Amino acid sequence: MPITLGQRLRIAVIGAGIVGVHVAAELARRGADVTLIDAAEPGGGTTSGSFAWIDASHPGIADYLELRLLGIRGWQRQAAEFGRPSWLSLNGTLAWARASDDAATLEAHAERLERHGHAPERLTAQAALEREAALRVARDVEVVYRFEGEGWVQTGPAIAALLKRGRAAGLRLRAASEVRELSFDGEGRGAAVTLMSGDRVSADVVVSCVGRWTQSLLAPAGVEAPMLRPGSPEAVVQGVVARTSPVSPRIGSVILADGLLIRPETGGRLLLHSNGYDATLTDHTAEPTGEELLALLVDRVRDTKRARIEAARRCVRAIPGDLLPIAGWALDRLYVVATHSGVTLAPALGELVAAELLADEEREELARFRPGRFRSVPA
Ligand SMILES: Cc1cc2nc3c(=O)[nH]c(=O)nc-3n(C[C@H](O)[C@H](O)[C@H](O)COP(=O)(O)OP(=O)(O)OC[C@H]3O[C@@H](n4cnc5c(N)ncnc54)[C@H](O)[C@@H]3O)c2cc1C
Repeated sequence: MPITLGQRLRIAVIGAGIVGVHVAAELARRGADVTLIDAAEPGGGTTSGSFAWIDASHPGIADYLELRLLGIRGWQRQAAEFGRPSWLSLNGTLAWARASDDAATLEAHAERLERHGHAPERLTAQAALEREAALRVARDVEVVYRFEGEGWVQTGPAIAALLKRGRAAGLRLRAASEVRELSFDGEGRGAAVTLMSGDRVSADVVVSCVGRWTQSLLAPAGVEAPMLRPGSPEAVVQGVVARTSPVSPRIGSVILADGLLIRPETGGRLLLHSNGYDATLTDHTAEPTGEELLALLVDRVRDTKRARIEAARRCVRAIPGDLLPIAGWALDRLYVVATHSGVTLAPALGELVAAELLADEEREELARFRPGRFRSVPA
């Protein structure tokens, strides 16, 4: 790592989604001179289309369970630091599955979590109803798990709070400033970020946190960081989140009810999401209405027959080509972060990346996720 310690590093962080805002705010808090640049407004990318579940309980699309557990702990620290803010809820997850394959996957994942010291609590259907009286848990459901400490975050207010904290430490935000080009001094002395407006931001280090745009931003600088496109066979890249009208039943946790994710949203509304439904989407699917998700809700939560869908949004996930997070140096002055599960991971990534950049620590937790793994092997 080429940085000379002892100077106040000028760091340009590109991308003000949930990941970039965490990284930038943590760097500023630790004393760096940070400029955070976004093509649009903070939080308007994939982050705004997320279900924003903070979890390790879903089996997930790839194996980075340790990082997800660190993410949950990071959010728990934030809950304490921000004084239990209303935009963050960590009341746990209740999960069950009926189809035998899904139930077996859930059981296997619960065992993995137990091996990582994060064992979920096994409940009967009756005990689940005592916790969440609004649920309809079918009689033939044998196993329900409760995952302590998980939850969800309203990303808009969370980003606003983190930016406020960052600004108090000197962070400057340049919104509506799309980056056109990155350039690096040939002798590794400095970097410059050129905006579409023609303005240049000089920096000692550039940190790319542009999510699904990572490949297009970095390829001209000669960096390999492939991101999956919609339709890729490796993973479900597009997803839909739907918001209901206000409903009378109250739910306190995140519920993974036989494939349907349900969580409270402001004003007595519910937010719905289903990976199974996402897997049916193609480029030719008409704009989703959320009605398919609503139909699943009625079977899972009492008194929701009159609920309507107020909004449904389709969004593209930020998934690196091999499904694993990317975090590390790609060039002497360029550090890259890009990941799926970015909401869960963001506080952990903020702390680990800041430690690597400012404390000159090579963090073992990130060792598996270096961008160098994509470098093509010379013929
Ligand atoms: C349907 C769906 C459900 C999901 N559910 C969950 C969940 O429950 N839990 C979870 O942990 N994760 C979930 N995810 C994943 C999670 O939302 C993402 O991993 C996370 O939001 C990525 O954040 P980010 O900051 O990396 O990217 P983004 O939020 O996309 O931010 C990138 C930013 O970079 C900016 N940018 C891009 N190019 C440029 C440029 N050239 N110049 C300047 N700025 C630029 C963009 O404007 C954008 O603001 C879900 C994703 C989807 C789509």
